[in-house]
Amino acid sequence: MMAKGVSFRSHEVIERKVDIILQKAKGKGFYNFDSATPIDLIIEKLFRLKIGGFVNLNKDFSGALGALDLNNGVVWIDESLDHTVNPSDFTREARCNFTIAHELGHYVFHRPQYKEAKNSALFHDGSDPRTKALETQANMFASYILMPRAVMMKKWEEIDQSCPIDSAIREMTRFFKVSRETMTYKLKFLGLLDPSY
Ligand SMILES: [Zn+2]
Repeated sequence: MMAKGVSFRSHEVIERKVDIILQKAKGKGFYNFDSATPIDLIIEKLFRLKIGGFVNLNKDFSGALGALDLNNGVVWIDESLDHTVNPSDFTREARCNFTIAHELGHYVFHRPQYKEAKNSALFHDGSDPRTKALETQANMFASYILMPRAVMMKKWEEIDQSCPIDSAIREMTRFFKVSRETMTYKLKFLGLLDPSY
């Protein structure tokens, strides 16, 4: 059962919402379903939010990787994900990307709850069942927007299937700029990878 005040959103609903956003990005000419999702451009050009940069979020919200500041229209990222200090640090870049997409998910679906809570810390309290539902939805949104089904299928098809599975997954993670864990989960979800892998 969904926690009080949180609407249930199916995979279909979330995927449809993402598709509308990606079509808008296409209409504006900065995305064409054949590259990694330009999540920073989507945030800035379609939603008029700013990416505030890397700050120490943990002094206020323990364990938080991202925060949505609705009053100022800014997405903040925790400094632990700062990949600019070491541009070859792909894992941080991937986690940063996912965090930005996750915060956008909150913006798209949970603005009323944010306004009501008046405190974005609510959204990172894992012990609150209501928060858990919001977090799951934001993660689903991030997964769909960073790895759209059609682009995933096409890219997977393009990768030489005779290459070792590890290399194929690695190529997918680099292309979509997501972590290996996130990519493996998605490939299984789409039935492209054996569940026992
Ligand atoms: Zn969240």
